[in-house]
Amino acid sequence: MKALVYHGPRNVTIDKVPDAKIEKPTDVVVKITTTNICGSDLHMYEGRTNVENGKILGHENLGEVIEVGNAVETVKKGDYVCLPFNVACGFCENCERGLTGACLTVNPGTAGGAYGFAGMGPWSGGQAELLRVPYADFNCLQLPPDGKDKQDDYVMLADIFPTGWHATRLAGLTPGDSIVIYGAGPVGLILNPAVEPVQTGAGNAATGPLG
Ligand SMILES: [Zn+2]
Ligand SMILES: [Zn+2]
Repeated sequence: MKALVYHGPRNVTIDKVPDAKIEKPTDVVVKITTTNICGSDLHMYEGRTNVENGKILGHENLGEVIEVGNAVETVKKGDYVCLPFNVACGFCENCERGLTGACLTVNPGTAGGAYGFAGMGPWSGGQAELLRVPYADFNCLQLPPDGKDKQDDYVMLADIFPTGWHATRLAGLTPGDSIVIYGAGPVGLILNPAVEPVQTGAGNAATGPLG
């Protein structure tokens, strides 16, 4: 398959690499049809991380399921799915508390996994023709029947929208509360489209390392 591969600061190329495939029975393989370049991809591209050479980038992914592992219960071949950027197991202590960005299973020795990102586990990214999705029942957001037609909208569920939304949940915000958002990039702006943004420079109001 073709994939966007990191070779060092400001050096990424489209390379021919082995096809993504089912490696565990809980996996699916997705044919990527839409993927975003995130502001946090630039952290790696510009050499501000310790991402390893050879990493396939891309954590905002959407596509069609083309292969399904034997232990996958709910995701089916032909489904259009969006893949929120955090890879998580769904069954560890942190996932059960809703802290899926700090999953204890998917990044041994530390916490929290993501597709194609520095320090977030072994997972390849989706700026590629094919993507392996582990714990597919937990990580695939199955889209409604208009998923294929509206994929440019639904792909925002991979990072931008839920990152902003998750911040409001973790902060315990309720309607009518007043808040200050530091660094109102796209994620910060999506917290409240009615807010007049004050330009304070680049950066997002992300809650995690991505976004
Ligand atoms: Zn977990
Ligand atoms: Zn992102």
